[in-house]
Amino acid sequence: MNSNEKSVEERGFMCKKDGKPMYFVEETEKMSNGQRRSVFYYRCPICGYRIEVEQVVINVSNDKIVIKRKIRKK
Ligand SMILES: [Zn+2]
Repeated sequence: MNSNEKSVEERGFMCKKDGKPMYFVEETEKMSNGQRRSVFYYRCPICGYRIEVEQVVINVSNDKIVIKRKIRKK
């Protein structure tokens, strides 16, 4: 898709299976219960292998906002 992904070069995430540079993907989804979930991951354009780096769940109930983060450590 986009071959000019500079951030991939800088971060240096390579696919474990074929050694190709992976690109960064951010996905946000709205769930039926009002939660929002964002997932950040690197994905290999060749084989589809992905490395999840962070997951954020934002929960709004009444006047309270609760943010849960899950960060992957190597
Ligand atoms: Zn791959």
